[in-house]
Amino acid sequence: MTYNVNDFDSLDVVNSDRNHVWHHLSQHKAYETSDPMVIVKGEGMRVWDAKGNEYLDAVSGAVWTVNVGYGRTEIADAVRDQLVSMNYFAHSAGNVPAALFSKKLIEKMPGMSRVYFSNSGSEANEKAFKIVRQIAHKKYGGKKTKILYRERDYHGTTIATLSATGQLERRAQYGPFVPDFVEVPHCCEYRAQEEADKDNYGVWAADQIEKVILQEGPETVGALCLEPITAGGGVIEPPAGYWDRVQEICRKYDILLHIDEVVCGLGRTGKWFGYQHYGVQPDIVTMAKGVASGYAAISCTVTTEAVFEAFKEDENPRLGYFRDISTFGGCTAGPAAALVNMQIIEDEKLLENVTMQGEYLRGRLNQLKEKHPLVGDVRGKGLFAGFEMVKDRTSKEPVDEATASAVQAHCMASGVIIGRTNRSFETLNNTICLAPALIATQADIDQIVDAIDEALTEVASKL
Ligand code: PLP
Repeated sequence: MTYNVNDFDSLDVVNSDRNHVWHHLSQHKAYETSDPMVIVKGEGMRVWDAKGNEYLDAVSGAVWTVNVGYGRTEIADAVRDQLVSMNYFAHSAGNVPAALFSKKLIEKMPGMSRVYFSNSGSEANEKAFKIVRQIAHKKYGGKKTKILYRERDYHGTTIATLSATGQLERRAQYGPFVPDFVEVPHCCEYRAQEEADKDNYGVWAADQIEKVILQEGPETVGALCLEPITAGGGVIEPPAGYWDRVQEICRKYDILLHIDEVVCGLGRTGKWFGYQHYGVQPDIVTMAKGVASGYAAISCTVTTEAVFEAFKEDENPRLGYFRDISTFGGCTAGPAAALVNMQIIEDEKLLENVTMQGEYLRGRLNQLKEKHPLVGDVRGKGLFAGFEMVKDRTSKEPVDEATASAVQAHCMASGVIIGRTNRSFETLNNTICLAPALIATQADIDQIVDAIDEALTEVASKL
């Protein structure tokens, strides 16, 4: 039997899925009374399910991934040609698309130098942690193994990346965790800690990181790992002053700054990378989702030349290199897709589009806030936005999960897929998240926000 993408029986697919597939992040009990959703086609901003329903996808593949939109034949053609020419060789040897993509990527990342390939955001972060740990052993006699991460940030699904994740529901029942991962407080101004300096919150929040470093002992801390804008933890942009102070603290205590751009990378916020809004210079940057917009599995751990140099020598000559491999980091489909993906972002001036449509999106969400008391706080940057739903604006008490999920379900029924913080932070599963493809037009955004507007009216009327 050969697989023909256009020749399948929808009922058979849905039943096979229900009987044999274990979906990600899904409670399968629901499929005892309703059909699982099977997506069969995508084009531009839109997808279709096996039942023929059309949806405007406001979250780029549910998890903010398909940055350049669905149905890009130019990426598919490049990947096909690449696979026929040379599909795989372990990445201890180079390959053409990896070399060309790395050069192009580094041109967009001043101060950075080397690209290490793997397959998922979690894996890219694992590589970063291993780099930090090996440097601790090479340069600091086994000290500086601690890695700081922030409350509400997410860095992946493996045990080490979960150990570096500040979201309680994600971690529940997966312990015990890897030692030497230490949490620092969040920096969400809307939910500023009681004792915080509200007039200078950005600097205050960064100062809390310094406090943790001093408690732990700066000689034990190797790296600080942060999302540029917290994504699944609630779309939280650090307030003014935060990043300058973070950079200062890292330099003061000789701590590597690792920025996790798995969500924000490759244009989502209107610059190539989220950190580039804040004038900060990281030592390690990880990226995945938008790198090839989901056309192939690829992730990158990018370092400065100084980090790379540290691996060239060791007292023990057998240890003078990064003893790590990712078998499928040698697949050529990923970098071939990534190369064309970047070219599309440039040719179609998508960074400019993200900035323009992002302003429009936030403007429209702020109008919703004026109209609906359920909307407590509108946040985000570029085509990455979220708003918190609250029972009461003064107390800021979050709505319960069922209310936020009813808004999501209502939008779905009207043909718009939106996201929400989900199983991420025990009491704050109340943030609606939007991350439409970077090609979104004003009409797309109107359709998304109109659907949310109606959903909020409907849900509020039943409270
Ligand atoms: N880092 C961040 C910020 C993420 O949002 C995610 C996934 O959502 C990851 C890492 C993990 O990426 P992956 O699911 O590709 O392993």
